[in-house]
Formats: sequence, C-alpha cells, structure tokens
Amino acid sequence: MSDIDYTQTAESLQTELEDEGVEVGVDTLVDGIREGVETYSLDLSEAVRTVANKYTPDDSSSVSVPQLGGDNEQVAVEEIPELHENAANESAWVDAEVEVLSTWTIDADSVAQKAQIADSTGKAELTVWASADAPTLSEGDIVALGNVPTDEYQGTYSLKVTSDSTVEFLEEDIDAVDNLEHVEGRIVQAREGLVDRCGDDDCTRVIDNGHCPDHGSVDEEKDLRLKLTVDDGQSARDVVLQRPEAESTLGITFEDAMDILTDTLDVEETNDMLTESIIGKRVSAAGPEIYGSIQAEEVVVADAVLGDMDVDAMLVEAREARPAALSE
Ligand SMILES: [Zn+2]
Repeated sequence: MSDIDYTQTAESLQTELEDEGVEVGVDTLVDGIREGVETYSLDLSEAVRTVANKYTPDDSSSVSVPQLGGDNEQVAVEEIPELHENAANESAWVDAEVEVLSTWTIDADSVAQKAQIADSTGKAELTVWASADAPTLSEGDIVALGNVPTDEYQGTYSLKVTSDSTVEFLEEDIDAVDNLEHVEGRIVQAREGLVDRCGDDDCTRVIDNGHCPDHGSVDEEKDLRLKLTVDDGQSARDVVLQRPEAESTLGITFEDAMDILTDTLDVEETNDMLTESIIGKRVSAAGPEIYGSIQAEEVVVADAVLGDMDVDAMLVEAREARPAALSE
C-alpha cells in the first residue's frame, strides 16, 4: 500500500504552511500524510488536516485576540462562514448553543477532540484544543460555547474551543438539523475493495501486513470496504461503504469477491477489477458525516450494476490473468 505518491499533496501543504510562517520538509509531510492514510485509514483530506494541525502554531498564536470581557453575540451556525469572512481580525469571536452530533479524535497532540456540531440552522466542525482543558463532549450533548473563534480550512468552517473559551452543558433541547449528508453524482474514483481487518474481537481496524497499531501482530480477517469519490458536477465528496453497501454498489457479494481472489491470487488485481467496474456509474448515497466523509448507510446505484454474467466474465478474466505456472 506504499505505492501512492503524496509528493504533490505534500508540496501544496508545504506552501500553505509557509504562508503561516512554518517551514517543514516535503519528505516529513509525505511521511505524515502517508501514516494518516495508510495506518490510521483517514481520508486524504483529513490526513492533510491532521498533519497541518501538527505543524501550525497552537491556538494562542494562530488566532486573533479574543474580545475583552467575552461579551459576544450569540450566533446561529449558518452565520459562521459570513462572520468568519467579514471578521476584522483573523477570526470572529462568538457564542453559540449547539448539539454535538458526533465526535472523533485525530492524531495530533494539540487537539483534544473534534466534533460535528449543529443548531436548527446548520452544521459546523468544532475543534477542542488540548490547551483549553475543556470537558469531553459526547454525541447528543447540548452545549453553550462561550468566546469561541471561527476558523476556515479548505472550505470547511469551524469553531474552536481555546483556553479563552467556556463550555457549559445545557439541559434544554434544541432542534438541531440532523447529521445526514447526501450526495448524488458519478463515481470518479474508487479505492480499496477486499481489505484486511484486525482479528481481535473488539477491533474493526483495517490493517496492513497483519499488524494492528493497537493489537500488534494479529490474524487478519478479510472484509469488503469501498472508498468512493463522488462528483455531483459542482464538488466531490468522499463516501465510505462498509460490506453491505459495498456489495449492493458492486452488485456482487463478498463471497463472489473472495472467489475472484481465489482465481487471481492477487488482492490488488482483484480490487482493481472490482473498483474499475463501478467508475463512472451514477450513485446516490446518504449517511452521517465523520472524518469529512459520508459514512454511507444507504446507497443506490442508478446505472446497471454487475449481474451473475459479469461475475462469470470476471472469473474468466481472473483465470486468464493467473500466472501460467499456477494454473497447472
Ligand atoms: Zn486491532
């Protein structure tokens, strides 16, 4: 899995960091991005963000000075982009009452927690800096955020909980928009296919070479997972499909895919056959957004998908591709 070239991505990140006055070598950035994608299964954009967070100055220096007295306007989430763009300094400092839709952590010591937050007007990301020493947020919490700066990174607007901010848990309910994201468009990129998961009972990590970062050397179990990039004509979204959704998108079962592997004896070749078969198809997917990707709970492929005939054709192709010595 180490044949992907991240140099170009690393170079553009390097330019962005230079703008912030930070100098980091391209090789170091490539290693960081590769680790995020290949070891922690982050999507490329999240891996880049994780690496960027690691090297950008901490909250005290990367945002403007908070308003004295913390007497900010309480704002609606949908106003965040406009407030940020029109802020006199780098950020607008605001108060907001939001529901926590989901939380996750990233591999950066400076960040305690990331969350998707929402009120009745919209959704945004929240970054809780470790230096804020804030309480841990959980899905479903309703919180009053006080004196939080706005931020923007690659078109995603967010709020940040810093050491100058307050977080107060509320009893009341707010009518937050739901966490479902929807995308409809053409599959312009498809990755993975048959993957190895850690065989440890409570672990679902996708692993490389039989090594789980949490459990060391483990027995692997094959599974089917797809990562798609879907272009709706205006923008592209990353969509992650677990086994049931991957099966319905490919139009074949996990067992069919394993049959193809039995013939090709080559996971990469098998996955190329699987992913190539769906490039260009129209798809509609919906699910919660986590790590910047839609974790599809529903997926509908508009174009004809593979049927039994196609699986047979793939098996023939797989046998033909098999090294002659192995066919005897
Ligand atoms: Zn594990």
